[in-house]
Amino acid sequence: MDGFSAEELFTNEKGLTYNDFIILPGYIDFSPDDVNLESNLTRNIRIKSPLVSSPMDTVTESNMAIGLALLGGIGIIHYNNTIEEQVNEVRKVKRFENGFITDPIVLSPGNTIADIDAIKEKYGFSGIPITENGRLNSLLLGIVTNRDIDFETERTKKLSEVMTTDLLTAKKGISLQQANQILRNSKKGKLPIVDGEGRLVALMSRNDLLKNREYPSASKDRHKQLMAGAAVSTRDESRERLAALVEAGVDVVVIDSAQGNSVYQIEMIKYTKKTYPDLSVIAGNIVTENQCELLIKAGADGLRIGMGPGSICTTQTTMSVGRAQATAVYKTARFSRKHGVPVIADGGISTIGHIAKALALGASTVMMGSMFAGTHEAPGEYFYENGVRLKKYRGMASQEALEAGGTKRYFAEDTKIKVVQGVSGSVVDKGSLFDYVPYLLQGLRHSFQDIGTREMKILHDKLHSGELRFELRSPSAQMEGGVHDMYTYKEPKYM
Ligand code: IMP
Repeated sequence: MDGFSAEELFTNEKGLTYNDFIILPGYIDFSPDDVNLESNLTRNIRIKSPLVSSPMDTVTESNMAIGLALLGGIGIIHYNNTIEEQVNEVRKVKRFENGFITDPIVLSPGNTIADIDAIKEKYGFSGIPITENGRLNSLLLGIVTNRDIDFETERTKKLSEVMTTDLLTAKKGISLQQANQILRNSKKGKLPIVDGEGRLVALMSRNDLLKNREYPSASKDRHKQLMAGAAVSTRDESRERLAALVEAGVDVVVIDSAQGNSVYQIEMIKYTKKTYPDLSVIAGNIVTENQCELLIKAGADGLRIGMGPGSICTTQTTMSVGRAQATAVYKTARFSRKHGVPVIADGGISTIGHIAKALALGASTVMMGSMFAGTHEAPGEYFYENGVRLKKYRGMASQEALEAGGTKRYFAEDTKIKVVQGVSGSVVDKGSLFDYVPYLLQGLRHSFQDIGTREMKILHDKLHSGELRFELRSPSAQMEGGVHDMYTYKEPKYM
């Protein structure tokens, strides 16, 4: 057969990265839309899109986790915060109801028109529900819209005097489709959702009508709530954190450590599996077969692979410990497969092609930081530098993140001198996840088509049987494979 099996590709003494090799094409007898990207995140969690966001404080909080879960992936909420803050982010994901605003701004009849003006100025919307005590879960009394206050000159007037009390409402438990239908027929801007006693529990907005679509691939638990992951450290504090996260309904925890083969990690896995047997535990980070063996033996349900490939990472330069990522993924995936434990390729992914390569080397999912940083859903505000719209992205072991409490991942809490293993900087605006992720997934389907494989299991079977063929790329082959000989050209928005 032409080309080389993965076994042959990875027998030399050099560690390989994603750019060092290419996958040879297979035979196509299906369209990209026939490709099924469903995969296992852990032994028992399956997701429709093999994409996971990193537990980093510039990548994953609730907005990222909600967006990714709706699109079939999953977000891992970072823990560079208090237990309460992290739990709050997990709760927002678990309580999210698509299309329904579950934490609307509410006022009381005693508020004034000036209060509405202030909200309009700050958030840009009007149509505020009025409840007895000015909070959610209180009796709904009315709604104030633009039309109620447009021509009112006296802005100190109480809302009780101007609010509309003839209300169209819907009952809690109504489906998204039914609620959309009511909004569409009613010509109203807002639809308050009330419980059996008339208390306001949520709001729907006409402006969101187009966005209120169904997400058939959404990652959901058995109660039909979105799935959420959260990171914990191997330190003692984590036991308390873990208890609070489980209470909030977290579906999977990632025991986050830069070098996961430690007595602390093994104890944490054992403790977690013993205390919460139904909770999925992802252990890591690791890069060798021996490390896999120990963590699997301790009870890991999934393994996170990568030491040093991250875009913001200086670990390999500073510590001289780690492994080239393609080699790490292949070796660990081959070993873990025998135990039915999926691996996550974490770090070093900057194109759709890298995602395809990680999966073709046996990873079941990929974890990404820089790819998701810079989207609307990533934490932080946009800013401009030289006319380019940017968002901040930083390593969890960067000086900045360490100062903000990110030492737990690096066993550095108790040391006086903190050795930095990452950088902080910025990435360009990538727009919304809801445009970006469907693009990534469609690109991935095309890649599967070129490989000649319709689904993950077949891809992995072909990898390990040697049917999937690879070839090393010389430096000039890599140049040839990129854009060349152009005087000018415009890079595509996404690669
Ligand atoms: P990226 O997708 O290439 O940006 O890499 C993200 C991954 O880098 C994360 O999921 C972590 O495994 C890793 N990481 C995060 N912060 C640091 C750091 O400060 N130093 C080294 N690695 C880091």
